[in-house]
Amino acid sequence: MRLQEYQGKELFKRVGIPVSEGQVAASPHEVLVIAHELGPPVVIKAQVLVGGRGKAGGIKLANSPAEARQHAEKILGMSIKGERVHKVLVTRAVEIEREFYLSITVDRRAKRPVVIFSSEGGMEIEEVATTNPNAIIKFHIDPLLGLQSFQVRDALYCAAIDGSLMRPLSDFFIKLYQAFTQFKANLVEINPLAIVDGGKLIAVDSKFIVDDEEVPAEIAGWENEELTDNPQEQMAKKDELQYVKLDGEIGIIGNGAGLVMSTLDLVALKGGKPANFLDIGGGANAEQMKKALQIVLSDPQVKGLFINIFGGITRCDEVAKGLVATRHELGIRVPMVVRLTGTNEAEGKEILTEDGIAPVGDMEVGAAEIVRRVRVAQ
Ligand code: GDP
Ligand code: MN
Repeated sequence: MRLQEYQGKELFKRVGIPVSEGQVAASPHEVLVIAHELGPPVVIKAQVLVGGRGKAGGIKLANSPAEARQHAEKILGMSIKGERVHKVLVTRAVEIEREFYLSITVDRRAKRPVVIFSSEGGMEIEEVATTNPNAIIKFHIDPLLGLQSFQVRDALYCAAIDGSLMRPLSDFFIKLYQAFTQFKANLVEINPLAIVDGGKLIAVDSKFIVDDEEVPAEIAGWENEELTDNPQEQMAKKDELQYVKLDGEIGIIGNGAGLVMSTLDLVALKGGKPANFLDIGGGANAEQMKKALQIVLSDPQVKGLFINIFGGITRCDEVAKGLVATRHELGIRVPMVVRLTGTNEAEGKEILTEDGIAPVGDMEVGAAEIVRRVRVAQ
């Protein structure tokens, strides 16, 4: 279970890790009020579960409450790497003097937690690893002994950290490990961990992944409340179908996670952008196909539809029946490409052909075809 930045920061506060002061909001008006209370300048931060929000335009500095509201109007509702922004965190902007990186995660091979510290914070750790690997320090924690202060001191010496920072930085390490154990995390990351005006250290960002097998009771209800704002996701949840909203214009229906993933890749490879994907799962019948179509087509961003079915337990004739029936009921107005293969393929194809739909036999051909037809239609 992955937490939003504001949720991770709430857990940081509980173990005494200082964070920039702030509050979460879901509307531009709330942002205005919070910015006023905090006093500008403030930073408006999109709350999505993907990294690199800054580069994607999801983090903006505002010098007045009115400007904060303007930024919020843009950021709320935007999509970052396919994830819609439903909430923003408004924080009091801090002057940053220096940025570090600190994380604790589980090293599966060593079967123990590993601490990663870098004197070059603010950028992705993967980037530092390639451009300046010497800036990264790594060491393991014995789960029985816990994180020992001499380990932290050694690490900070290696990183040539100034003596005056030893104490406050070690304090951060120890508290972060406390958060890691107390909240059953698989990963906690602070990037950047910043020295701000006056030499104080604070966590400017948080990434927090809690082990799905042992989510502590106190954070059990925190999971993705935002997701339910999306009407298609709500419908899918009700029908127990796997639906994920993306950023492009081609709706994708398939059966089985693996097939759906490779369908997404193929569409992208052919130059298209998936708008969403829906996995009807194994053994789907005509009724489920109908529900799947209703959900995907109710997404206004969908400008074309690619249905990719590999019949195993799922029977192609059932899928075809659902498709034909729904087509007459709803009227599908966007270009559609169907690829059907496997169990009862001949029967399925016959049903489609009788209804004027020419199915393709190959998914790569299908992907190229839907991309082409959407382009032509525009
Ligand atoms: P990310 O892009 O998703 O990792 O989001 P972050 O919360 O890490 O913010 C991105 C960058 O914005 C940080 O690395 C900082 O350089 C900058 N930033 C965020 N908050 C502040 C702030 O209060 N003051 C300053 N000066 N920079 C900030
Ligand atoms: Mn960050």
